[in-house]
Amino acid sequence: MSRAVTNLQIDSARLWDSIHETAKFGATPKGGVRRLTLSQEDRQVRDWFRKACEDAGLEVHVDTLGSMFGLRKGRDMSKPPVGLGSHLDTQPTGGKFDGILGTLGALEVIRTLNDAGIETDAPLCIVNWTNEEGSRFAPAMMASAAYVGDFTVEDILSRKDAHGVTFGEALDGIGYRGESKVGTQKFSGFVELHIEQGPILEAENKTIGVVDHGQGVFWYDGKVTGFESHAGSTPMPLRRDALLALSEFALTLEQIALKLGPNAVATIGEAVIANPSRNVIPGEIAFTIDCRSANADTLEALDASLRAAASEIAKKRKVEIAIDQVWRAYTTPADIVKWNAASDDWHTTKAAVDLREGGAFSSRMEAKDGSMGFDFAGTYTKIAEHKLIAYAFGDRKAEVHFEPGPNGVVVRVVFDPETMHPVEQQQQGWQAILDNFKRHVEAKTS
Ligand SMILES: [Zn+2]
Repeated sequence: MSRAVTNLQIDSARLWDSIHETAKFGATPKGGVRRLTLSQEDRQVRDWFRKACEDAGLEVHVDTLGSMFGLRKGRDMSKPPVGLGSHLDTQPTGGKFDGILGTLGALEVIRTLNDAGIETDAPLCIVNWTNEEGSRFAPAMMASAAYVGDFTVEDILSRKDAHGVTFGEALDGIGYRGESKVGTQKFSGFVELHIEQGPILEAENKTIGVVDHGQGVFWYDGKVTGFESHAGSTPMPLRRDALLALSEFALTLEQIALKLGPNAVATIGEAVIANPSRNVIPGEIAFTIDCRSANADTLEALDASLRAAASEIAKKRKVEIAIDQVWRAYTTPADIVKWNAASDDWHTTKAAVDLREGGAFSSRMEAKDGSMGFDFAGTYTKIAEHKLIAYAFGDRKAEVHFEPGPNGVVVRVVFDPETMHPVEQQQQGWQAILDNFKRHVEAKTS
């Protein structure tokens, strides 16, 4: 039989209020937010966040790239904290929730634990990463990328915005060049709640899903070379029109991706006609291709198919189509670090789950007495889109399905047939994360 993990509730009204309170920093007339990184609006929201952290009893420190860390002490300070958070900067036409839900939701977890007087075993650390969006300074996610060692601090500090202002100057301009060395705040795991950046969960009427990998990406630069000739005097059958060849290629690429789908996408995002002129048949077009899939074989199949299509179309239309692969990155799997792995009271369960096929996730552990508990082992892994949430897995298969129910979201855990063990619990978003911490506390004290 199942057992409720906890009935500790976050204060969703307080979280909602916080989100709307910060939305005034950079509010746009249409109800959105324009809060570019290291702008005055960013300073305002950072000041707000710092004060909220301090009011919640957190020790705040800022690293030399401006990322903010609010530490809540745990019983065992020899353990690295669990990180929770996201970002407070937005795109020029951003919304109220992207990044903000993850950061202020983390704050709400702290506030709730404070209200309930709960001390966790490991410390907790909530984070506001600088410049996750990348719209003012490229690339996106640069401070968290520097945190994991993908860039040097000096490199990031010297990056310039469109007006020639360096990242370092902008950081000093708002007074957020901190003292902590980048990367020194270690985490045992990292959990980020984020709004969905695509339409899938909504289309499938799912409330929550879990990222278990970053997509693999293949990028290409392409060029179609035909022949420029007069638009009035060149008969249709004699043309070598680069644009028509690219058009046929683009439509073929769509069919290739559809055929390899649903876990495959391909995009031609740029196409530039050389020396364009109204009355000249396009002779040369440069273009780009972006292919993504979570599956390496699918990416390879995309690659082979698009190359075959290009050569066939080139032959048929008497043009050249050059395809040059400029970036090749396979799926980033969850680099899983086991949380609480030393505790042998819990059998871990493992499931490779594709979010796109049902919004399932696998993060349950089963106690020896048959009760169920959440267990997260987040690891901070830089991936294509934001950070990764990973979970503690073991050797058995289980799936956890989130389904909307009358009292919120029903979590249905389904083990593989050998050990079928269905349970239902009501959890949602940060509530689930909060329960995780609570469970650790209970496991320690019982
Ligand atoms: Zn975001």
